[in-house]
Amino acid sequence: MKTENRLHMKHGKQRTFEGLAVGRGIAIGTVYRHDSRYDVYVREVRISESRVKREQERFAGAARKANLEIEALQVKAKKLPGAAREELGYLLDAYQQMLKGSRLIRGVEKRIRTDRINAEAAVLKEINKMEDAFAAMDDSYLSARIDDIREVGNRLVRCLGMKQAAAFASLPRNAVIVSDELSPADTALLDPKQVAGLATVLGGVESHTAIMARSLALPAVVAAAELTSWARNGDIIIVDGGAGHVILNPSEAVLTQYRKRRANYLRGRRSLDKLRSVPAVTQDGMAITLQANIELPSEIDSVLRSGATGIGLLRSEFLFMNRDDLPGEEEQFNALLHVVKRMDGRPVTIRTLDIGADKLSDALGFEPGPNPALGLRAIRFSLKRRKTLMEQLAAILRAGAFGPVRILLPMVCTVDEVREVRRILNRLAGRLKRKGVRIADPIPPLGIMIEIPGAALAADALAAEADFFAIGTNDLTQYTLAIDRTDETVAYLYNPLHPAVLRLIQFSAEAAAAAGIPVSVCGEMAGDERLTPLLLGLGIAELSMAAGSIPRVKKRVRALNLAAIAGRARRVTSDADPVRLNAFISDMAEA
Ligand code: PEP
Ligand code: MG
Repeated sequence: MKTENRLHMKHGKQRTFEGLAVGRGIAIGTVYRHDSRYDVYVREVRISESRVKREQERFAGAARKANLEIEALQVKAKKLPGAAREELGYLLDAYQQMLKGSRLIRGVEKRIRTDRINAEAAVLKEINKMEDAFAAMDDSYLSARIDDIREVGNRLVRCLGMKQAAAFASLPRNAVIVSDELSPADTALLDPKQVAGLATVLGGVESHTAIMARSLALPAVVAAAELTSWARNGDIIIVDGGAGHVILNPSEAVLTQYRKRRANYLRGRRSLDKLRSVPAVTQDGMAITLQANIELPSEIDSVLRSGATGIGLLRSEFLFMNRDDLPGEEEQFNALLHVVKRMDGRPVTIRTLDIGADKLSDALGFEPGPNPALGLRAIRFSLKRRKTLMEQLAAILRAGAFGPVRILLPMVCTVDEVREVRRILNRLAGRLKRKGVRIADPIPPLGIMIEIPGAALAADALAAEADFFAIGTNDLTQYTLAIDRTDETVAYLYNPLHPAVLRLIQFSAEAAAAAGIPVSVCGEMAGDERLTPLLLGLGIAELSMAAGSIPRVKKRVRALNLAAIAGRARRVTSDADPVRLNAFISDMAEA
């Protein structure tokens, strides 16, 4: 429907779309339609050694199918009049030759084996390589031939039958990804060096796609209704991720205005960078711990640039995405070791698999169940898949021999879950030690996410079992208010400042303080500097957020007098009137 619409619509006119602001900054770039029907995009999936032969056979089958399609076209072409028949006949002959033992076919077969990737990705990679080689020859005849090769490549991908997904393999400069929807796994494939920003029609502010965009410091807007009905590959687009505006085909005047805004924004960010090495201490001398959340080991450079004093949340599930085999203990150990070593003595909190809802993994064969947000996910899933859990814990224990680590369990709901994991962890540590494997000594602290309302209300009991709390306000808000965090149709109700959520945070913080265990907030609230006084006032002295938010939050911390606001923050949770509450919070934000 959308595609048909597009064909009838006039392009080139400036259009503005309002969406939800999820990633600050301004992107000015070229539209790259992730879901376009005019091009083929594929996802790269790593395959195991044992899959190589099967993958090559699958590719050979696709080449045979593509060949049959061309034969059918040749039959049709013969019915065309004179010149057209001849022209098309030559072209189809050329396509057919390309499908039989050509450089393209041989290259793909080899690449499946050497790069150990799926056939679709191998086709696109091979085409890109050929394109580069042809471009270097500087011959206009040959450069035109690359279109033919692409045509054959696209046909092969179609015949392979893979669901179209993101490869983001050949992006234009300053690409702005425009799509109806982008999964967290797709977003994890974006390279911020190539991508300027993103804008989608669906999605919520605290969806993992939005979180990922913030981690990669990409300007991003979601819930921009109708955007994909108008945006075409190659259109100029502005994404104002701070205000939630998307402007398609901007006029010269608007472009100039946004170029200035972008320069101002970048200047502001550079000036904040100067805060990297100053301590996060309030005016009245209270030291606050500011740490980073990461999804991918590749984010470590931006963590180090941000001045984070540690990693407060490593979302390990991203190590399990975009692949069809599981990362074993060794691979996970190496990925974690890299992070631990780069953090050079600063603590790294590693969360065990939080698979489920919008975070899916083909490799785990995860079945989402009838209600994915409430089903067998996160720690519940890990406790059913003991082998996978033990591999992960072993990798963490081993990485912990090289620097301080903490283990964090997602979506804990009962004390039994914590006890069970502690039993497994102790047994595993004993076994590894007996085998002479070098592991963390003593066993790292075992903490839990407080992100289920029931866990927050039972925080006193859980505090007796857990070594620390990390409050996940994204899910805590979702579950307390019964608002799907990824659903833009109810995004207007998603409010971490709802008194119910604030009371649960306060209750958890008090239970942690009473038990003498550390407590942090690692949901997206932690990275919003307007809420820093509120969280600190509620007794939270550790915040973990996207690396890019740390300087802004630090600036806020350094300007605050905690003694002056603590009483006010507590009063917030006893006032259920939303208008007074908002006034209170704005007042505190300015304090
Ligand atoms: C949260 O729920 O607040 C959290 C930090 O975990 P995630 O966003 O990965 O669900
Ligand atoms: Mg969560």
